[in-house]
Amino acid sequence: ALAERDCQPAARTVADVPALLPVVGSDTLVPLVDGSSVTYANLDVAASAPALRSVADRVTEVLPLYASVHRGAGYLSQVSTALYEASRATIGVFVGARPDDVTIVTRNTTDSLNLLAGCVPARADGTPGRVLVLDVEHHANLLPWQRTGGATVLAGGGSVAETLSGLRAELARFDYALLALTGASNVTGESLPVAEVVRIAHDAGARVLLDGAQLVPHRGFSLAGTGADYVAFSGHKTYAPFGSGALVGRRDWLDTGTPYLAGGGAVSQVRVDGTDWQPAPARHEAGSPNVVGTVALAAACDALAALDPAALGAHEAALRDALVDGLSGIDGVEVVTVWSDAVDPVGVVTFSVAGHDPGLVAAYLSAEHGIGVRDGRFCAHPLLARLGYDAGAIRASVGVGTTGAEVVRLVGAVRSYVESGP
Ligand code: PLP
Repeated sequence: ALAERDCQPAARTVADVPALLPVVGSDTLVPLVDGSSVTYANLDVAASAPALRSVADRVTEVLPLYASVHRGAGYLSQVSTALYEASRATIGVFVGARPDDVTIVTRNTTDSLNLLAGCVPARADGTPGRVLVLDVEHHANLLPWQRTGGATVLAGGGSVAETLSGLRAELARFDYALLALTGASNVTGESLPVAEVVRIAHDAGARVLLDGAQLVPHRGFSLAGTGADYVAFSGHKTYAPFGSGALVGRRDWLDTGTPYLAGGGAVSQVRVDGTDWQPAPARHEAGSPNVVGTVALAAACDALAALDPAALGAHEAALRDALVDGLSGIDGVEVVTVWSDAVDPVGVVTFSVAGHDPGLVAAYLSAEHGIGVRDGRFCAHPLLARLGYDAGAIRASVGVGTTGAEVVRLVGAVRSYVESGP
């Protein structure tokens, strides 16, 4: 097999890089302003990743089968319960859950982080448990901690070593319960070395939550392998449809924390004068769950887990390098970075075009070239402000369904915008 692979001609240029896995909608035609139409180039995968073909097939398969889980006695209820619980197990395995970890099915990363925020134990004097975050975080990994009143926000940046020593020093100053860290920035795709951060935090007695929204779908992640205590991620960024996500991690806080939603399924006994809550995961999953969405997320996990991690990394690295090289070669275009030496960033590249409104550039790319990117401040206002992009920027992002030709199209379109103006 190796010899056969060696005989395959290597991609000559990035334009030759094919999609790694088929996704739904890659042949969608979109209208252009001149009345013609063109195949949509989805370079906004970091916002929501198009569903894998295998995920769509699985959804079609299970759609006729869903019924009330956990409570129904009918055959389809039994099938749905089995599908739901098997999907939970698959999701846990996908993020390297340890035997004692618990997998809670949520709606998305935001849901997962708000859930965990209600479970961080208070300090001995009754004040909220302290949570340390960097200012590079997506608002989803900032606001829940700020709302509990326990958050401290530290500037991240410079070199990775500088940020790590800043974290070490801050963790030594107070009795932090948790360090809540991005797995990969949704603005720059960059990461800190997770296992090293975990060692630093654990040495100081703090747990680590990894916001895996951008990392998990693109690099894979293992709780057991890194020692991190919790991971949160979203189905719709993991090539499954909207409405499913997960929080996976240590059981103790989740068994005793505030039930995320109050309602049926989360309780063992309800009396008029009090309620006995279930342990996790049921404690936090009140109401009828999203069975089809959870099965879809598990199908995406299965498909990604079957990929060779090196092939996944190489695919996205080739596309990212081509984006960075192509965009930085255009006059007036600046690529945003947080760290001077972060390694192996995921395929997210944010850039500005000097003297041009990011919203207009994004609108031009869509209307004239059928290319979808994101513009704005990417739910990371503190970071964009610190880096001097208060007016926002433009973000292109890639995934397993992205081709080199799409990246070439984007770079060419930005070049023509700069050279000829809109
Ligand atoms: N964290 C990061 C790093 C993200 O990129 C996002 C979404 O863009 C989120 C959290 C929130 O994800 P969701 O909107 O799926 O809850």
